[in-house]
Amino acid sequence: MNATLTTTAVRRGSDAELVAKDEFPPLQHFIDGAFVDGESGGRTPVVNPANGRLICDVPEGTAGDVDVAVTAARRAQGPWGELTPAERSAVLLSVAERIEEHGDVLARLESLNTGKPLATSLDDVAGSVDTFRFMAGAGRALTSLAAGDYAADHTSVILREPAGVVGVITPWNYPLLMAAWKIAPVLAAGNSLVLKPSEQTPLTTLKLAEIIADVLPAGVFNIVTGLGPGVGERLATHPDIDLVALTGSVNSGKAVAAAAGDTVKRVHLELGGKAPVVVFADADLAAVAESLRTAAFYNSGQECGAACRVLVHESVAEEFTGLLVEQVRSFVVGDPTAGDDVEIGPLVSEAHFNRVAGFLERAKKDGLTAAIGGAPLDGPGFFIAPTVLTNVPAGAEASQNEIFGPVVTIETFSDEDEAIKRSNETPYGLAASVWTRDAARSIDVPRKLHFGTVWVNSHLVLANEVPWGGFKGSGYGRDLSIYALEDFSRTKHVMINHAR
Ligand code: NAD
Repeated sequence: MNATLTTTAVRRGSDAELVAKDEFPPLQHFIDGAFVDGESGGRTPVVNPANGRLICDVPEGTAGDVDVAVTAARRAQGPWGELTPAERSAVLLSVAERIEEHGDVLARLESLNTGKPLATSLDDVAGSVDTFRFMAGAGRALTSLAAGDYAADHTSVILREPAGVVGVITPWNYPLLMAAWKIAPVLAAGNSLVLKPSEQTPLTTLKLAEIIADVLPAGVFNIVTGLGPGVGERLATHPDIDLVALTGSVNSGKAVAAAAGDTVKRVHLELGGKAPVVVFADADLAAVAESLRTAAFYNSGQECGAACRVLVHESVAEEFTGLLVEQVRSFVVGDPTAGDDVEIGPLVSEAHFNRVAGFLERAKKDGLTAAIGGAPLDGPGFFIAPTVLTNVPAGAEASQNEIFGPVVTIETFSDEDEAIKRSNETPYGLAASVWTRDAARSIDVPRKLHFGTVWVNSHLVLANEVPWGGFKGSGYGRDLSIYALEDFSRTKHVMINHAR
């Protein structure tokens, strides 16, 4: 593989602390409205991925810690669920206000813990605020089937009730935003929750608890930090949790769904993706390349909907590859303190860095070509050069598996049927995009693609009003929109015999 690196150097920022000591949240569990130590005394290290140094550590929670949190959540859920939607809405609006008020420190903590550029963290904060505001309104508009008579002398009323106590497990790529995507609809629908953040990125979730502790009734929102197999597994198996929701990898999703089976718990899964980007010959190629600069590389490509797998018509493949490479060449790679023009940060951890580097090594062995990038960058920190891989045969590992880094593959196709077939030949089904100026094709092709979101002449544009979630290996359940509120509630049919 001939690597043409954009840069061999990572731009380093100042040594000034991104977050002062007194801005950290308490490094404890948050249970029943208070920060508390766990039962074990074990701790999990939290590392700065931009330099590999230890930031702090948080409690390694136990099944016993989860049990204490679930008891608090169960007690709190009744009164919370009985509030009117308007009363819950007022609380969620206060949460949004607090996040906005503390947006600066939340963004700096997020960048410290994930290495992402500050602008990306500020986007996450703004997105979280909007999710709480949307859910505050949408919770008031939640309805069910109107009452009616469907059997002689019987009136049916459909009630919509909270699901109960919800276990939530979040990933490391958007720690605050993915927590907000769950907490807001779960609370708006009248549930309480126990949340386990990723063991790698717990800081903004704990900070959120600190800044909203006096806004929410005690026990409605609880956090237990710790590992997947200990804390996450208990959330999936606990008999008094009604629903478990996970955003994470396919393997974790399978483990959670299997563990939840014993208690016949409802399961909500937002898992990985490998989004195909289908570029027809009539597309505005420059616009595609410019859009993919963001859609493929945002958050260093650690994005479940990333535009990471391009399928381009063979007649325009060379021209398009040149345009995309030019876009990628302009990236500045660096740590969050290295300036406002840094757009690519490190990968989140050494383990993930090694995983992505392994994909690049194997791609090289398999004969793929790096049109740009193709290798790790110098440490300290876990940086990989933004990469475009060409000469990608059908079924290549790099185009089939979720790499979750700043890596795009480009394959070619010769006709529409082949493009659709190849796009669907993936175990994932989260997102895809179609690029064409043909009006009929822009309706027809999305219908034939098996993905939960299909963009036309766009990619990675999200809004709180519309659902987000996958098909196939990408899981089931919907985040955002009124559909998330439906997922986190249950219907009850009350039938009244009024025969006289
Ligand atoms: P991960 O699966 O390693 O971890 C996610 C969470 O699951 C963590 O909190 C982890 O501790 C927990 N976990 C791990 N094993 C578990 C188990 N056996 N039981 C219970 N919990 C367990 O995922 P990650 O590496 O943190 O995040 C990256 C993945 O998340 C990618 O695959 C990405 O596509 C996916 N993701 C999907 C979406 C979406 O909306 N579909 C959004 C963001 C991330």
